[in-house]
Amino acid sequence: MPEVDWSRMKAQELRERAAAGAVVILPIASIEQHGPHLPVMTDTRLGHEVALRAARKAYPSRPTVVTPVVWSGLSEHHMPFGGTLTLSHETFRRLVHDLIISVVRHGFRDVLISNSHGGNIIAMQQIADELASKVDATIVATTYVAEAADAIGQFLDDQAGVQHACEGETSMMMVCEPDLVDASDLAALGTERIGFLKAGQNSYRWRPFTHTTGNGVSGIPEKATAEKGERILEAAAKAIAALIAAPETWAPANDLRGEGTGGVPFRDRG
Ligand SMILES: [Zn+2]
Repeated sequence: MPEVDWSRMKAQELRERAAAGAVVILPIASIEQHGPHLPVMTDTRLGHEVALRAARKAYPSRPTVVTPVVWSGLSEHHMPFGGTLTLSHETFRRLVHDLIISVVRHGFRDVLISNSHGGNIIAMQQIADELASKVDATIVATTYVAEAADAIGQFLDDQAGVQHACEGETSMMMVCEPDLVDASDLAALGTERIGFLKAGQNSYRWRPFTHTTGNGVSGIPEKATAEKGERILEAAAKAIAALIAAPETWAPANDLRGEGTGGVPFRDRG
């Protein structure tokens, strides 16, 4: 299998990969508290693992390269629990924006921002929106636990989907960093999740994570196992690989304007 890790490759190899029309995955993540039993690197470690596995799965259909993970994300809501490093929205957007511009300047034309942290979702979509009319590339944004939600849900016993330091993330960390998981009393850690960012029926209000959990966990990690973690990682990688391999992910947008319709031409590398 060819190398897929950008940081391990030489410049000329990356030039060749650009010339071959490779997809670039830019993983974005966080360094933030993950309860008393998981390390703060959890989202960064898992996001990188999923991205590398996805790139290897996609490779036969589309050559793919994975940049180093943007470990600094938007984690203000986790600050009250300690261990958390967060950016302002402005810094995060500039950082991800500049990295994508670098990738595109080297000739890559299909960029997948692959996110592993809920707090980054809104900003990630803003970055993709902003860049769409400005760069000669197609930017797609995904969060792996959402893209693979149906498949992942089948493997979880006590949760419908992946939450935070939960059954899913604890299981995956048992695969990736088993020595860093404190599994001595997982049964004591479970918490019910309430919508901590909600107001009214369907409105938004910012709150800290302390609103939904007293120990930094959201979900029920009691039944976490490495076997389950391996199945979740593979399901996530398979879903991201399918997204990369599908031609419609990168196809030019339709232009359904009739003849004589005015307006502004949208940038499309067609
Ligand atoms: Zn996490």
